[in-house]
Amino acid sequence: MKREHLIKPLLNHHYPKISFGKGVFLYDDQGKAYLDASSGAVTAGIGHGVQEIIDAMQEQASKVSFVYRSQFTSEPAEELAKRLSDLAPGNDYWSFFVNSGSEATETAMKIAIQHWQEKGRPSKYKVLSRRMSYHGITLGALSMSGHFTRRRRFVPLLEDFPLVAPPYCYRCPMKLDPTACGQSCANDLETVIKRIGSEHIAAFIAEPIIGAAGGAVVPPDGYYERIMEICKRHEILFIADEVMTGIARTGTMFGMEHWGVQPDIIALGKGLSAGYTPMAATLAKDHVLEPILNGSKLVMSGHTYSANPLSAAVALAVLDYIEDQQLVKAAEDKGHYLRAALTKMSEGHEIIGDVRGKGLLAGLEFVADRQTKEPFPASKSLTTKLVERAFSKGLLIYPAAGGVDGEGDAIIIAPPFTISTEEIDLLVERLSEAITEVSQEVLG
Ligand code: PLP
Repeated sequence: MKREHLIKPLLNHHYPKISFGKGVFLYDDQGKAYLDASSGAVTAGIGHGVQEIIDAMQEQASKVSFVYRSQFTSEPAEELAKRLSDLAPGNDYWSFFVNSGSEATETAMKIAIQHWQEKGRPSKYKVLSRRMSYHGITLGALSMSGHFTRRRRFVPLLEDFPLVAPPYCYRCPMKLDPTACGQSCANDLETVIKRIGSEHIAAFIAEPIIGAAGGAVVPPDGYYERIMEICKRHEILFIADEVMTGIARTGTMFGMEHWGVQPDIIALGKGLSAGYTPMAATLAKDHVLEPILNGSKLVMSGHTYSANPLSAAVALAVLDYIEDQQLVKAAEDKGHYLRAALTKMSEGHEIIGDVRGKGLLAGLEFVADRQTKEPFPASKSLTTKLVERAFSKGLLIYPAAGGVDGEGDAIIIAPPFTISTEEIDLLVERLSEAITEVSQEVLG
């Protein structure tokens, strides 16, 4: 075995080396171009190599890159917190900066637990989430995740937090007709709350649109209104995990804007710094922070690099760029174009069961039989084959789990908001070719 030193997700797998990126393309050291139709891990929302961000980074680095958050604050961190509060649904949020989406959701969990402790209710510590969900890879975040494959090896170390039914109309988890179900998946939250007892529950966490655990699953209208009403009535904080949907991705700055929801706590990551530096944030409403401010005055969380001025300056530059280039609108408009093209393409591919999403967060789910929606057996490894085939054609797509318990196949298409319609056409053409070839393999 050749001696190697870098641990990669798949050990001994050959990963090309990337030399540089520009716009929606990445180029490896052999000169091959990859159309980045997934913005990496739904992260590089404004595309690669944007000069304005590089300039902002250089300017901040020439002043100061790091200060320790327990000793100092900085102009970029203060400004970013103010900016996010102004942008977030309903405003009036405090920001706590971290470095990854997992840290942001885990901090959200800790703030929710601390909120109830400071209010003299320490037994409220469980966090409910949905069976189809992914909130991060650290043990606290995994405890809140329903993503079976990412959880299973660590189950003995995870908190046994209860899971509720997801709003997955394509394959209703309650086996009901979505046009006449009476929001039964939302009502499942109340059923679980009553079983556990609201005196033991700190919060409910949900992704506005289910990402890696479902492939851009959009809930039906009225779902979040019902969820909010249930949470309020049972004194349970609502955490929106906007790590994937946040910062323009779905055609609104925050995913929850589609349903007029003002979450108590919001987790952000990925698109916040669009991949230029690690940066994530947990936003908490005034009323969530108040008991802590009135009590210990100490938020029990934080990492060495939290709120570092360099990453804060980058996130500010990303927000400026999104505003200057009107990229929220671009994500909405290009999203319509992309989904129309994917829907048209799906007519020629029997194995595509569903095309869905919002803005530039689109999902495709694959089935062995369109009528019965029967998934392919796991042994066919359809998603893996498709991602690999697309990769070989110079197209980057993001694998997702399909089905309530990850038993199906789905992918996410989430290119940078700067993608042109010609580039979307190229994306769909390469994807269609990859699907044709993989269909022959799995059906043949
Ligand atoms: N939450 C959601 C919705 C995500 O999609 C992800 C990552 O895919 C995370 C949290 C974890 O973020 P990170 O990988 O930056 O830790």
